Amino acid sequence: MASQISVDMAQLPVPRQMSLEVVMVEEATPSVRRIVFAGEALRGFVYAPGQDVMLSLGAAANGAVKRRYSIRRVNAAAATLEINVVVSGSGPGATWANRVQAGDIVAEVVAPRGKITVDARAPWHLFVGDDTAVPAMLNMTESLPQGAPSWQIFEVDSKADEVPVESRPEGSVRWLHRRGRSPGYGAGLLQALARFPIPSGPGHAYLAGEAQTVLSMRDLLVARGVPRNQLSVKAYWRMDAANLDRGEPQSLE
Ligand SMILES: Cc1cc2nc3c(=O)[nH]c(=O)nc-3n(C[C@H](O)[C@H](O)[C@H](O)COP(=O)(O)OP(=O)(O)OC[C@H]3O[C@@H](n4cnc5c(N)ncnc54)[C@H](O)[C@@H]3O)c2cc1C
Repeated sequence: MASQISVDMAQLPVPRQMSLEVVMVEEATPSVRRIVFAGEALRGFVYAPGQDVMLSLGAAANGAVKRRYSIRRVNAAAATLEINVVVSGSGPGATWANRVQAGDIVAEVVAPRGKITVDARAPWHLFVGDDTAVPAMLNMTESLPQGAPSWQIFEVDSKADEVPVESRPEGSVRWLHRRGRSPGYGAGLLQALARFPIPSGPGHAYLAGEAQTVLSMRDLLVARGVPRNQLSVKAYWRMDAANLDRGEPQSLE
């Protein structure tokens, strides 16, 4: 079950540093590894769906290289936390995710990180992103109260990369397929968003994934009349450029 913890956005939990053990690794889809951590620090762990963990993954010139991964789910009783990592390329994050195995320790994890969580006041929710955004957006979706209208538009490579959604009608989730085209150009997401019938009222749109695509999606929704304060926008990675050592892509603005 997904965590149903509801946290006031103004009072997000204070991030803590912890050491976690990897207790399970498996292929969730052809392009994603499901990695489950356990540790005493996860007993009583409180977070808001949409938040992430920041892992230190080895040395860099000015300290450790950090990479951030959204929390897919937390099992409070078992004190475990799951992330889903897209294993594309040979950056530090993908390399770690390809090699990690049960029994490995990540000595420096900071969690929970991130400020984008579900806007509890919004009468509807629209989630749009690529493979890297799926874990956070499914967790957020599954934490919505029953009956809260929500739509999801996700871009993955193929049908095999689709993952099940717990506790929501499948009908609200639309999967777009790149069919071997390079990720990061976002043409399918932009086309789908241009045609999406935006509901009236102060709903909330959450946009995440590749940096340029996310900015283009934001501009498209603003041009379609969605006020900026109804948008939560986050660049997770940048096409043809490594994330900074602190785990975020360099800003395009
Ligand atoms: C708040 C936050 C939450 C995130 N949540 C997730 C998550 O739940 N799951 C997840 O997989 N990632 C997530 N990311 C992205 C993740 O942190 C890494 O940036 C990403 O996985 C790439 O790291 P890397 O070290 O492998 O590659 P980098 O060193 O950043 O880049 C190396 C090369 O790989 C390319 N590259 C990087 N990512 C991709 C990709 N997805 N597809 C194709 N090429 C790529 C880059 O363009 C670059 O050329 C999140 C990022 C942030 C900031």
